[in-house]
Amino acid sequence: MLLTVTSRNVLLPDCDQPRPATINVDIRTGKIIEVLLTYTGGAACIKSGDPHFVDAGDKVVLPGLVDAHVHLEEPGNQDWEGFWTGTQAAAAGGVTVLIDMPVDSSPPTTTPRNLDIKRCSARGRCWVDVGFWGGAIPGNQAELKPLLSAGARGFKCFLIDTGIEEFPRVSESDLHTHMSRLQNSVMIFHAEMQNASTSARHRLDPRSYQEFLCSRPEELEIDAITLITRLQAMYPSVSCHIAHLSAASALPTIRATKAHGSKLSVETCFHYLCLSAEDIPDGATEYKCTPPIREDSNRNLLWDALIDGTIDCVVSDHSPCLVEMKELESGDFMAAWGGVSSLGLGLSLLWTEGRKRGVSIGQMIRWMSIKNAELAGLSDKGQLKVGHDGDLVIWDPQMEFKVNASATAAPVVITDRMIGLERAFVFQEQVDSL
Ligand SMILES: [Zn+2]
Repeated sequence: MLLTVTSRNVLLPDCDQPRPATINVDIRTGKIIEVLLTYTGGAACIKSGDPHFVDAGDKVVLPGLVDAHVHLEEPGNQDWEGFWTGTQAAAAGGVTVLIDMPVDSSPPTTTPRNLDIKRCSARGRCWVDVGFWGGAIPGNQAELKPLLSAGARGFKCFLIDTGIEEFPRVSESDLHTHMSRLQNSVMIFHAEMQNASTSARHRLDPRSYQEFLCSRPEELEIDAITLITRLQAMYPSVSCHIAHLSAASALPTIRATKAHGSKLSVETCFHYLCLSAEDIPDGATEYKCTPPIREDSNRNLLWDALIDGTIDCVVSDHSPCLVEMKELESGDFMAAWGGVSSLGLGLSLLWTEGRKRGVSIGQMIRWMSIKNAELAGLSDKGQLKVGHDGDLVIWDPQMEFKVNASATAAPVVITDRMIGLERAFVFQEQVDSL
């Protein structure tokens, strides 16, 4: 049985702009089996009324987005965010695959057994495809290969204190121990490096955004990225990936490394591309994340780096917490939880901002789907082509909405998994994790 989706605007691989096309998906396997370069809908279409024929008209059909940096904190902290709610937020915004970070659940995903515990928590509770990064912490080097065998997509480590006892930062010597055991794997770095001034800085006003910014200076990112580029040169079979780049002053180092053909890859986040420090009021701790949102001039340089290919991917770094952990009443930036929650809002955010800069939807899909799928080793995701998974998004680029705490609107989403979702309503059965 086939699901057919047709539109005058389908974004096909290697295209900057959408074009008329029809996609046929085998419902049994979930794979795209045919791409026709014509629109087959419209008033004269004899198939209208067929539930397996979707005429999207002028709306844009995109490959499902892949968000490779999401913190779903289950098990242990599911009242912050769990699989049930987080994956629905993803689906509402066209994210059909998310890769979960290993750090905020309890236990963290640092052993195959812990990965198994996480998988059990996810089973039957996911509305989109979910994969898992493993954690690299001091002393768990013997767990890395078994974690990969158990299905972890690669590893995440921190070069700065996490504030989470079960997930300490790694030293340079830990990294040599870990990376010398890995081949053809991914090591993702929280790229801020602890130094003597990180915790010693004197703070006068904990409500001041400027002071918070000074407590996480660009030099922490530059120091970390200098180390990462050195490690990349020493361990060329490991793909080093810089998570959530904020400091534009690190871009020359990254450009120089990439110019030598290194495997190094880089992501930034929707909040660094859409928000500026100048607009953040003192005490507004909802904006706290690490590394921090920097000045507007920095933001413009990040956009330039995306457009010229220095930055490869854009992700949410969705990192929710309980409202009280944001310290909204005191406005204390130092005490508040660091994290921004934008899972499922990325396409609208990037389109709103990118359109002003002349960016095409094809470029955005490279940053939000194709490159993230490559990072996570998902060779059949991120593009609408024969043999790939039929994860389709139908999106209205004209629709406008305002995000607020009580309601959000979102693009329409249809995926092969939508078939699963329909079943979910009937049989209480959900999509399984990757
Ligand atoms: Zn993160």
